Amino acid sequence: MIPIPLSRPDITQREIDAVVDVLHTDTLSIGPKAVEFEQQCAKLAGRRHAIAVSSGTAGLHCAMLAAGFKPGDEIITTPFSFVASANCILYVDAKPVFVDIDPITLNLDLDKVNAAITPKTRGIVGVEVFGHPGGMPELEQIAQRHDLVLIEDACEGFGGHAGKRAIGSFGRAGVFAFYPNKQITTGEGGMIVTDDDAFAATCRSLRNQGRDGMAWLAHQRLGYNYRLSEISAALGVAQMHRLEEILEGRRRVAHHYMDRLMTSRFVTLPTLTTDDVMSWFVFVVRLSDLFAPGDRDAVMNMLREQGIGCNNYFPPIHLQPYMVEKFGYKTGDFPVCEYVSARTLALPFFSRMSGKQVDRVCSTLEKTLEKLLVGRKGRF
Ligand SMILES: *Cc1c(COP(=O)(O)O)cnc(C)c1O
Repeated sequence: MIPIPLSRPDITQREIDAVVDVLHTDTLSIGPKAVEFEQQCAKLAGRRHAIAVSSGTAGLHCAMLAAGFKPGDEIITTPFSFVASANCILYVDAKPVFVDIDPITLNLDLDKVNAAITPKTRGIVGVEVFGHPGGMPELEQIAQRHDLVLIEDACEGFGGHAGKRAIGSFGRAGVFAFYPNKQITTGEGGMIVTDDDAFAATCRSLRNQGRDGMAWLAHQRLGYNYRLSEISAALGVAQMHRLEEILEGRRRVAHHYMDRLMTSRFVTLPTLTTDDVMSWFVFVVRLSDLFAPGDRDAVMNMLREQGIGCNNYFPPIHLQPYMVEKFGYKTGDFPVCEYVSARTLALPFFSRMSGKQVDRVCSTLEKTLEKLLVGRKGRF
């Protein structure tokens, strides 16, 4: 029985050749490949500027600084995400103000965002969780109405759209990530996209030790080394040439999962709205109310024993130990997030996953869930 991994990068000879070609040159950093990759990403997002960085997290850190967020500023964000979308707020000593999520899109609940705005609120970090763009256009309007800076953590939504607008095109800036489990990968890497000239210039300087493009040893501001190497950028350029093929592969696998699990009473599937084009980042199902919250972890263990990769995307950020210690959050603070978190299960998902593999995951999942319920007569 060959294990099926949770995710797998889609690398072909084209990517391998592109990396090897760079290694035959003398320019392994700060060169033409990063520029080319930036141009491709700016075009994809419909933005004027793109700034390649060493990770999505580095991109978010630069965005917080370029947005001018200061200690004491309140920045609204979601507790249901990968930790980086909240951590970047802490990097600049601003205060993450968590707001509960919408149970359908799993993104920020817009009414609760409105209710959380205070005179100290300076910005919003919105996330397209699992690549779902739902609510991002409305979030942009809320930010505009209240004069807040919206930063779009688009790290899970590369290539998706909300209506006609690309994910990455919302707010002051968007940030993409290219870790190996994302839609496309550079090993490690990220990209900031924006239409704002000054914001872009600040990000370029921040990623390159605070230089302002003059002398190599002239540093305008406190900066970082958040550059993307030419090796990584070449990988990104090659992946961009195959983007449609990769996204189409992911759509095919997602739809196969949807068809296969549509009638299951054991799981709830992702909900799509008609205008939105999801960019499939992961395939996450939610265990139905037939199950107790603790059952999800048992199911994960049982699936892993049967060679099926899976994970609990995402544990609530506000309940991570360092957040509890710093802010005193407790269970019950964000009930929708906590309910969803206790029941979500990410299944194996990658662009070249075969129909047979999807079928094996689904039948193993169904059998495992059925087994768990047998014997609980009262609930079954
Ligand atoms: C992947 C991801 C990031 C950034 O990840 P890096 O590993 O730093 O590239 C940020 N936010 C979200 C929501 C993510 O999924």
